[in-house]
Amino acid sequence: MKSVYFDHANSTPVLPEAIAAMHPYLNRHFGNPSSLHRFGDPPRQAIEQARNQVSRLINAAPESIIFTSSATESNNLALKGLAFAHQNRGRHIIVSAIEHISILEQTRTLKRSGFDVTTLKVDQWGRVDPQKLRETIRPDTILVSVMHANYEIGTIQPVEQLAAICRERGVLFHSDGTAAVGRIPVDVTRLEVDAYTFSAQSVYGPKGAAVLYLKPGIRINPLIEGGFQEKGRRAGTENVAAIAGMGRAAEITGEHLSGWRENMNRLSRRLYQELPARVERIIFTGHPIDRLPGVVSMCIEFVEGEALLLSLDDAGIAAASGSACTARTLKASHVLLALGIDHAVAQSSLLLTLGKDNTDEDIDYFLDRLPSIVSRLRSISPLYARYLRGENPYACKTGQNHQHEEN
Ligand code: PMP
Repeated sequence: MKSVYFDHANSTPVLPEAIAAMHPYLNRHFGNPSSLHRFGDPPRQAIEQARNQVSRLINAAPESIIFTSSATESNNLALKGLAFAHQNRGRHIIVSAIEHISILEQTRTLKRSGFDVTTLKVDQWGRVDPQKLRETIRPDTILVSVMHANYEIGTIQPVEQLAAICRERGVLFHSDGTAAVGRIPVDVTRLEVDAYTFSAQSVYGPKGAAVLYLKPGIRINPLIEGGFQEKGRRAGTENVAAIAGMGRAAEITGEHLSGWRENMNRLSRRLYQELPARVERIIFTGHPIDRLPGVVSMCIEFVEGEALLLSLDDAGIAAASGSACTARTLKASHVLLALGIDHAVAQSSLLLTLGKDNTDEDIDYFLDRLPSIVSRLRSISPLYARYLRGENPYACKTGQNHQHEEN
C-alpha cells in the first residue's frame, strides 16, 4: 500500500546529513562538553558550531541562542523565565487565545504565582489585531507572547507590528516560531522580537533539541537550575548529538528553503483548487493569504475528525486533526473554537501539513481516496441525515471557501 505523510506539524523526517552530523557524538566523541580534558573538546566544539548554524538561519547573534530539549521547554523558559526575572516591574502578561498549549497551560501556574494574565482574542482568520494589543497593554504589563504562525490553521501573525508596539511601551515580546521556521524565512533581527522559540523538528532535525533565542542583554531566570551550561540559563549536560543534528539541519534548511516553499505552495494550491470539487461542504480555516506554505487546514462537515484520521490511516495516509499534544483528548481544538467556529464543525477538522518531500503523486492519491472515505462516514452521520432532509444542523459561523495564496 502507498504511504503518504501529511503530518509534518507533528514530526518531520530527519535529514540524512543531520543524522551523519549526530553520529560522532553517539560513539567516539562521547565526552562531556564541560570537561576540561581533551575528551570534552569535540562535543564542546560541536555545540558551538551548531549555535553558529542555528543563529545564521534566523539572523541572530550566536550568543543569543539557548539550547533546550523541546519547543515546549523553550516556551516554558521564555514565559516563566522572563516573568520571574522581570516581576519587579509588574505582573501582567498577555498571550493570544490560539497559542500552543505549552504557552496556555503555563498561565495557570503563573496566575497561582500572583501574575495576572490576559488572553487576547483573535479574529475569524486567527489574527491578533495590533490595535487590540495596544489597548490591552497596561502600565504593569511586562511580557506579551504571540506565536509567529499557527500550525492548526496556518495563519501568520503580524509579529513585526506586535513587537514594535511592545517595544514602544517597554514590554518584552516573545514569539513561538515552531511552526514558522522551516516554512517561511525568519529574521529575528528584522522582527525585533526579544525572545523566539523553535525546535529541531521545525528544520527536519532530530527530536530532543530546540532553541530559545534571547536578545542579548535581556535577563531571564533559568527553569532548570544546577549547572553553568548555556551560561547558567539552562543547566544539565547538553544533548550533544541532537544539538549537532539540529545545527546541520538548520544549515540545510537555510540553503533549500525557497525551493521547498515553492513545492509546498504548488501542492497546497492543488488541494485548495481540487478538494471542493471532490467533496462538498469543506470549510478551509485560517487566513486566506497570510498563511504558512504547505499547511492546508479545513473542516469537513458532518464527518468526525478522529474517525476520518483512522480511515485515512487505513488507506496509508497520515494526517492530523489538530496538534498531537491534544490528539488523544478527543476535545474540539481551542484554536478553531477561538475563531468562532461552531463546536460540531470544529470536531470535523482535518489538518494536512505537507513537507519538502511530498509529491504530486501524494496529492493524487489523497484526492482519489478522500471522497469515498467521507461518503462512508457521512452515511452514518446523524448530522448529515439532518442536512439531507433540508434542515441546517448547526450555524456555520466562519471559514468561507476562499482563494488561498502563497507565502
Ligand atoms: N509550539 C508550537 C507552535 C507547536 O506547534 C508545537 C508542537 N508541534 C510546540 C510548540 C511543542 O513542540 P514539542 O512538543 O516538540 O515540544
